[in-house]
Amino acid sequence: MLKRELYKVDNGKLLRERKFCPKCGPGVFMAEHEDRLTCGRCGYTERKKKK
Ligand SMILES: [Zn+2]
Repeated sequence: MLKRELYKVDNGKLLRERKFCPKCGPGVFMAEHEDRLTCGRCGYTERKKKK
């Protein structure tokens, strides 16, 4: 549980720097989900790394 808390804090920082969609290119952000990122434009999905 403790590790998970730390991870959350760490992840909170990363959430601010959202990734761009590799297919649509810069300007199109990926939408954050619990365990994945998705592009609302082309539907591209990228799984988040766990741990
Ligand atoms: Zn896209």
